[in-house]
Amino acid sequence: MEKVKNLIVGAGISGAVLAERLASQLQENVLVIDRREHIAGNMFDSKHSSGITVHRYGPHIFHTRSKKVWNYLSAFTSWHYFFLKPMAWVDNRYVTLPFNLNSLYQVFPAYLAQRLEKKLVDSYGYNVKVPVMKLREQQEEDLRFLGQYVYEKIFEQYTLKQWGIAPEKIDPEVMARVPVFVGKDDGYFQDTYQAIPAQGYTRLVENMLHNSLISVRLKTPFEKIKDTVEYQRLFYTGSIDEFFNYQFGELPYRSLRFDIEQKNTEYYQPAVVINYPNNFDFTRICEHKYFLDEKTPSTVISVEFPQAFKRGENEPYYPISNPQNAALYERYMQEAKKLPNTYFFGRLGAYKYYNMAQAVSAALDLFEKIK
Ligand code: FAD
Ligand code: UDP
Repeated sequence: MEKVKNLIVGAGISGAVLAERLASQLQENVLVIDRREHIAGNMFDSKHSSGITVHRYGPHIFHTRSKKVWNYLSAFTSWHYFFLKPMAWVDNRYVTLPFNLNSLYQVFPAYLAQRLEKKLVDSYGYNVKVPVMKLREQQEEDLRFLGQYVYEKIFEQYTLKQWGIAPEKIDPEVMARVPVFVGKDDGYFQDTYQAIPAQGYTRLVENMLHNSLISVRLKTPFEKIKDTVEYQRLFYTGSIDEFFNYQFGELPYRSLRFDIEQKNTEYYQPAVVINYPNNFDFTRICEHKYFLDEKTPSTVISVEFPQAFKRGENEPYYPISNPQNAALYERYMQEAKKLPNTYFFGRLGAYKYYNMAQAVSAALDLFEKIK
């Protein structure tokens, strides 16, 4: 029987943080496994034959306010500063997204845009985020009209496509990620640190795992090796319902299909990400050369089609947050607590809609707890 001190399931950023900490801080050996043929989980990127660095699982922009997380990752990468300024295709024109004071002037005649701008600032202040659902509930007639307009043009159909259920049925926090912004900053995020690793995400994770105490085994599902490896601690970043063989039922996830296409033109679209709230079956198109400002004669895009998650057919990209699913997760967690030295974390293990920085932060916290 092979013996390791720590077995980590999943070579995504969550697993990589734990492996790096255990090896560098406690000088313990670690075996990291992943069922995929590559490291870096959903952050995986690689060089396409066009010379462009392509994010295989959709656009990934690192953003955080946490100096701790930023400093931690900066030990493994230098950064290409990058501010995401996406747009939405609305009524045959590009509109600034999140919908903000600039968007008002793109979609309404100037007199109306001015009136709405004044009312927004008077009601909420300047540089303030307002969830669209709150704006729809406004007593004031013009603001209520604006709330309904933005809801119909930007959120309603996109959310239906993305989640397969009506916006009213999803956790309000999900849509509140993209607020109406009473301000003129066109950025998608307002975080202090916003960047792409200069050599890509895969290189970042590779650097984290570069330690003689860490071995990585790819194309290795946990189920395949669990009876042949003896470990003192298990860190699991896969789906918790799968770990427990779905004994209480399946936790729901949402999936995506990415159609990656090379286009024989220098640029395909005017921004790195264009959302299509109302037209077409897809939700967004990403043009990858923008991330690292790569200069190439052709370009590569990926088109995102939301899908139901089906075990064995596609990947569980998004946990679906609602009270019923939280209760089911909690049942699995009760089981997990009975297992000694076993830890569930990461976007799937914690069943949380984590961004990369949140995943890193949670993994650092877990290390502090166990060390
Ligand atoms: P994952 O990256 O999912 O890694 C888990 C790994 O575990 C996987 O590689 C999987 O193959 C492996 N695994 C699972 N079960 C098993 C098993 N039984 N045996 C072996 N291996 C197993 N975040 C941002 O900050 N900015 C963004 O712009 C952004 N955009 C995103 C866009 C999309 C479309 C998606 C889906 C996510 C996006 N994210 C973004 C979130 C980001 O991808 C996650 O926060 C991050 O990748 C989570 O890392 P993780 O290690 O927890 O999970
Ligand atoms: N959303 C929307 N229209 C948009 C952008 C976002 O309706 O043009 C809603 C949708 O419900 C989406 C949520 O806001 O799932 C969060 O969007 P975000 O861009 O944060 O999603 P992610 O990048 O994680 O897929």
